[in-house]
Amino acid sequence: MKRQNHFTRFSLIRIFTVIILTIVLMAPATSWCKGNLFLGVPGGKGGVVTTSVPDAARVGAEILKAGGNAIDAAAAVQFALNVVEPYFSGIGGGGFMVIYLAKERKTITVESREKAPAAADPEMFVPFFGFPGQVFSLASTSGLAVGVPGTLLGVATALDKWGTISLSEALQPAIKLAGDGFRVGPKLAEATENSRLQNEIGDPAYDEARKVFRPFGNPLEQGTLLVQPDLAKTFAKIAAEGTDVFYKGEIAEAIVATQLATRTFGGFDIAAGIGRMTLEDLANYNVVLRKPVVDEYRGFIFKGMGPPSSGALTVLQILKLSERFPIGDERQGFGFGSTRTLNVMMEAMRLAFADRAVWMGDEDFVDVPKEGLLDDDYIAMRSALIDPDSRQDNVEADDPRPFEDKHYWKKRKLSRLDSEMQKGGHTTHFSIVDRWGNVVSYTTTIESFWGTGLMVKDYGFMLNNELTDFNFRPTASDVPFNPGANDVAANKRPRSSMSPTIVFNRWGKPIAAYGSPGGSTIINSVVNTSMNLIDHKRNIQEAIDQPRISQTSANGSPLWEAGFSQEVIDELKAPPFGHNLSDERLRVIGSVQGVAISPLTGLQYGGADRRRVGGVVTVKLKEIDDCWHCNGDDDDDDDDDDDDDDDD
Ligand code: GLU
Repeated sequence: MKRQNHFTRFSLIRIFTVIILTIVLMAPATSWCKGNLFLGVPGGKGGVVTTSVPDAARVGAEILKAGGNAIDAAAAVQFALNVVEPYFSGIGGGGFMVIYLAKERKTITVESREKAPAAADPEMFVPFFGFPGQVFSLASTSGLAVGVPGTLLGVATALDKWGTISLSEALQPAIKLAGDGFRVGPKLAEATENSRLQNEIGDPAYDEARKVFRPFGNPLEQGTLLVQPDLAKTFAKIAAEGTDVFYKGEIAEAIVATQLATRTFGGFDIAAGIGRMTLEDLANYNVVLRKPVVDEYRGFIFKGMGPPSSGALTVLQILKLSERFPIGDERQGFGFGSTRTLNVMMEAMRLAFADRAVWMGDEDFVDVPKEGLLDDDYIAMRSALIDPDSRQDNVEADDPRPFEDKHYWKKRKLSRLDSEMQKGGHTTHFSIVDRWGNVVSYTTTIESFWGTGLMVKDYGFMLNNELTDFNFRPTASDVPFNPGANDVAANKRPRSSMSPTIVFNRWGKPIAAYGSPGGSTIINSVVNTSMNLIDHKRNIQEAIDQPRISQTSANGSPLWEAGFSQEVIDELKAPPFGHNLSDERLRVIGSVQGVAISPLTGLQYGGADRRRVGGVVTVKLKEIDDCWHCNGDDDDDDDDDDDDDDDD
């Protein structure tokens, strides 16, 4: 009896010690989980899909329920989005997918960014400066802006390498949605009012999209059944014949023919606007599996997309520049939305965007000093310029090359920068986690709302205007030095801001995945969300809901959303700050879709952005059909008794 008491006491002490140790060790990973009570909508273990359109989220969830993995679901979601959200992404565009493979504990980035054709050159957009006030509008709606599309090959590559279903299977839900039709939602109805669908009335090239989305010259009404037979036929063809029909076959020919369209001005065709893509460019298109950019913020490991995206490098620069400040600590004046917090965020954004403008571009063409940009000493030197209680007068890029391990560069005077062209919030992001813990964080785009406005004749999908992400005028020069990292070149990929991100705890467990659309504001939507999760200890849905602040150039004007205190905004506008925050605050910045996974319970949660409609579907383990892959190597089904359906 005595012995038993002793044993019990010993066991209790042991259990107690383990609990305390677990709490201490997990502290950074769980601090924003709040005991799993508020991780988002609603917790499960069979997988979560979050997209900006509920119809597409449901497609992904059906794939998970049928036994597919996150990569299968991502493929089906992308094709479904092409049908239900055709103005933001599709096979006429490109994107960046970050994948975490749970079994291998490995993170991969799949880059399917559009490429400039072989006939592209650094001066190709210069003629548009002959149309003052119209430069972006005319250039971005002419065939010249169309980059060689990458989305289809990107998705097919991911499926082939890490999926469990065929390309044909992944296309089936989209074929059905396009062929049988679906009910138009509020955002699609609104999108069909967009001016991009109203260029060059009477020109068959520009009429093609109108036939589908503005039948009889009117926008679509919410609730209308929208059938897209050409798109259904295209997907069926790809399902039957594979990607070659798109890159080397009849669809390639149709793409080349469509991008020969150009805008008119004053009744004349703008000859310089004719697209330069050839069949050879399409046949030569390649997807690249690149190393993720990896760094830490407050003990959390961020993995994201490297060049040609500036996303992860700039997100991490901003976070690391802010790290020495106690963001989140209200007692020190750094609570959510406080003057000091917002000032530090804007100052860090200014510094990072200054560097981005000089150094970031397609690393197959320019030497992007990735290590130097995130080097601790370089960050410390740059962060020292930030005063939490005032604003820097003028921000310039610095030279991270001396901080590269690889080689020493002599510091040279950098050129001054043009401010970033402000563009709207297009594109779409979705995040998926499956029951095995595989994660996909995928940002995908056709660039502007409806891309160029050009739909491939008889094939029913929109062509991107991604090449307008290049510098419109060449910036490369020796004196003062500028590497021209984002100048146009043959076969080069334009710099992107897309920032699909996966966040891990210090033991390498993925705990969140998210990203956003919004042009260069994408980077700042991801920064805002990250700080909300980590510093302000919000759950994934709250982190998405909070108002955002964004500055996307060294010395331009910041944007802010309604929801911050007016007193704080007024303070930030006055000396010693003097931020040029406009009074217009009804602006929407980004649309973040995220998943979060509790490292303690394994429960999975989703958050979707109410700034668009947003769809989160959580799959329960008991809903999964385990026999779908009975003949496959699906060996990990031992958890079906581990039911998960209770939220908390
Ligand atoms: N083309 C942009 C980029 O790659 C995305 C477009 C948008 O989100 O508006 O950064």
